[in-house]
Amino acid sequence: MVDVDALRARTPGCAQRVHLNNAGAGLLAQPTVDVMVGHLRWEAEIGGYEAADAARDDIAAVYAAVAELVGGAREEIAFFDNATHAWNAAFYSVPLGPGDRILTGRAEYGSNVLAYLQVAQRTGAEVVVVPNDGSGQLDTTALADLVDERTRLIGLSHVPTSGGLVNPAVEVGRIAREAGVLYLLDATQSVGQFPVDVREIGCDMLSATGRKFLRGPRGTGFLWVRSAALERLDPYVAEIRSATWDGGRGFTWADGARRFESWENSYVNQLGLGAAVRQALDLGMDAIAARTLALGATLRERLDAVPGVSTHDLGSNRCAIVTAKVDGVPTAEVVAALARAGVNATATVPEDTQFDTEVRDVHPLVRLSPHYYNTESELDRAVEVIAGLAR
Ligand SMILES: *Cc1c(COP(=O)(O)O)cnc(C)c1O
Repeated sequence: MVDVDALRARTPGCAQRVHLNNAGAGLLAQPTVDVMVGHLRWEAEIGGYEAADAARDDIAAVYAAVAELVGGAREEIAFFDNATHAWNAAFYSVPLGPGDRILTGRAEYGSNVLAYLQVAQRTGAEVVVVPNDGSGQLDTTALADLVDERTRLIGLSHVPTSGGLVNPAVEVGRIAREAGVLYLLDATQSVGQFPVDVREIGCDMLSATGRKFLRGPRGTGFLWVRSAALERLDPYVAEIRSATWDGGRGFTWADGARRFESWENSYVNQLGLGAAVRQALDLGMDAIAARTLALGATLRERLDAVPGVSTHDLGSNRCAIVTAKVDGVPTAEVVAALARAGVNATATVPEDTQFDTEVRDVHPLVRLSPHYYNTESELDRAVEVIAGLAR
């Protein structure tokens, strides 16, 4: 059980706003802010390198905490300044050539698709979009049929940025493993929202951000790479953090997933991410998911009960991201009305998920994304504002 009052009391933003934009950025908890401000002050007082040296054990503990969160080993974790760069480090390291195939889904994130298209143009590889099943999630039967000897990579957004869909990541993992195909899971919207375990999913690479449902600071992201997959990847950038120059004409890659990192990092942010992950582990991802997913389901139900309002989340398994539309009212106006009432929400961007937009003429939608620290009365506040516009 999550003690909502206690958690709200140590989340300064809860006193200011009805924050239903956790898919954009979750609210920082006070202990996270304290860790960050403390390290920043330390950097100012004793020097940035010296502060990092002094915090060496705490920084190492962040690798261990993130590994624990996703069910991996600490040497399989690499840190980045966002999830996009984490994902890029994995994807651009997959060797691809003419005729090779990348399989992805309709809900794939825009930046991922742009990278697929660039590499396809560069190498002659092909991008194949796996259709949805009747519920709107990735059709795993179609995926199994499409996987063949040309397939080099399955790239999947676990939860899209544009709705409450939870793609069947575990079944996709089974198909990928059976075929021996690399599997890259974009878990940016799922990590921190509900349990995500790489042992259960069976992916080879997983990327996530710090600032969304994990409630870490902006400007943080991480990549997990299965140790056994390292030999199948050609790390895309060699530099003084990811590799060691032998002094002659050769070099060796850093051990484990560190070979994907780059030299300079914000340790303020990394330590803040560590505090956020520690908090999620202490609360327990099962407890977090139980409350967060229930709030999402309640919000969806209450919105669907309002005449003139409809929700548009796909799939048989849906999460706390709720997308809705008010008949005859532009989405931007709905978001603005919510903002005037102190409710943080956003709109989906059609260009962010064009493969989805192609088959569903619904975007932009209002996107509301509660987290465990939200209350039912906050959901009511949002529904009330939206119902007011629907009249
Ligand atoms: C937000 C998001 C990203 C990008 O994360 P950044 O930390 O902003 O780089 C990637 N994939 C999905 C599904 C997202 O929602």
